Amino acid sequence: MRGGFSLMELLVVVGILALLAAILMPVLLSARRGAQRTVCISNLRQVGLAARMYRDDYRELPPYLSAVRLYTGDPRVFVCPVDPLEGKHQARDTLGDSLRLEGDYYLPSGVSYTYVPNWAVARLLGWWEAGPPYGEGKWGELTPLSECHWHWARQFNPTWQTDRITGARGWVLILTLGGSVRRIRAETPPDAFTPERYY
Ligand SMILES: [Zn+2]
Repeated sequence: MRGGFSLMELLVVVGILALLAAILMPVLLSARRGAQRTVCISNLRQVGLAARMYRDDYRELPPYLSAVRLYTGDPRVFVCPVDPLEGKHQARDTLGDSLRLEGDYYLPSGVSYTYVPNWAVARLLGWWEAGPPYGEGKWGELTPLSECHWHWARQFNPTWQTDRITGARGWVLILTLGGSVRRIRAETPPDAFTPERYY
């Protein structure tokens, strides 16, 4: 009987550990992404709830983000855990794309989610019909209210738009006016995108 490990046995053990790490790493990363997505969906639902409370009080169009804020307890519900800038886009985005992400222009605590621009998109696509007495439109259950774009790129640049990205992969989370959070694949071409096709 000899004591200890031979060099070969040691190498085998090291090799197995390296292999295990290589197998586990993507699993752990994907679990982390899944957990972040769950937090984000919960955030969006709370934003939706706040928007609904606003609607119950004022019976009009979906409110501006700053009005929704008054109905939420915690300003962090506007910040996606994946967002590396924690919603502080306005201050740093110098490329004129700030319309897409409201950022701290509206809320000092930061905003990760795309908000108002979708109203324009919804109107453009006819999802949002003008209807008196509420001025610009009506409250449709599937009309997008807010979106999170932070889950479809490993490294996110706030000035990117989906149609400029080749090989974009992952989810875009969409809060509808009905308060549900739907999702679509980032790879879906924008012209194939209708509320009925969310899932
Ligand atoms: Zn998110």
